[in-house]
Amino acid sequence: MNSNNFGTRLIGGIVIALIGFAIYMSQTQINPVTGEKQHISISPKQEIRLGLESAPEMAREMGGEVPSTDARTIEVQHIGEYIVSHTNAAQSPWKFKFHLLADQKTINAFALPGGQIFITLGLLNKLQNEAQLAGVLSHEMGHVLERHSAQQMAKSQLGQMLVAAAGTAASDPNGSGASNSATMIAAMVNHMFQLRYSRHDESEADQWGLKLMAQSGFDPRSMIKVMEVLKSSGGGHGAEIFQTHPNPDLRIKQIEAYLAEHPPAANLSEGKNLSEVFQKSSY
Ligand SMILES: [Zn+2]
Repeated sequence: MNSNNFGTRLIGGIVIALIGFAIYMSQTQINPVTGEKQHISISPKQEIRLGLESAPEMAREMGGEVPSTDARTIEVQHIGEYIVSHTNAAQSPWKFKFHLLADQKTINAFALPGGQIFITLGLLNKLQNEAQLAGVLSHEMGHVLERHSAQQMAKSQLGQMLVAAAGTAASDPNGSGASNSATMIAAMVNHMFQLRYSRHDESEADQWGLKLMAQSGFDPRSMIKVMEVLKSSGGGHGAEIFQTHPNPDLRIKQIEAYLAEHPPAANLSEGKNLSEVFQKSSY
């Protein structure tokens, strides 16, 4: 109502915002793989536990897991474990585990914090060879190595504090529309803030994907084919691997630029043809 009240609310808002920033800035950890300083509030052990605890629920929501005796599950785990044991991922603290989900309609792959990696049957069915499968799995491993989920969690905690701060500063005891719009703007800004980082995260995960593929003997050029598969599938609406980059052509360009700077060695291969792998196995 009067200017005094507004002054008090503004100071209250600023204090909340400052506390939010102070918490966010104080929660720093050095990434064990990249050596980068990151704002993260949970320990690697907590992160691994969080992923392990969420994995069964995640699987339930995506049609459950394909049985472990199925040749396709065996192949997904084989390629995943092969990448882990032949790359930087082997020295990381993360406990990688690879899951094949029975959902045939959804074209998706995703990673939970700490190393739980998932690919749907819908996406696996679209892939032609082991190098493409390696591309999908190593992109997801990149999110784990960079601790993107833990970073996003710390950021959303900061975001909530900022929204609360804006709400306090703009709150009107008489309940006019002004407070609502200020809170909405704060929420929107928070969303943009996170979206920008997500795109950055996707590029980082793509680069890790290419690096891990090359280290484990798979031709990283196959990643372009993976992008084309996603593109021709209409992007797999809501698919993690596709979600934050609505423009697959831009992503392909970024991959090509990376490959021009880091030319793949001549001995890298596309691996076996997946249809042959699955045909030979009896299940
Ligand atoms: Zn991704």
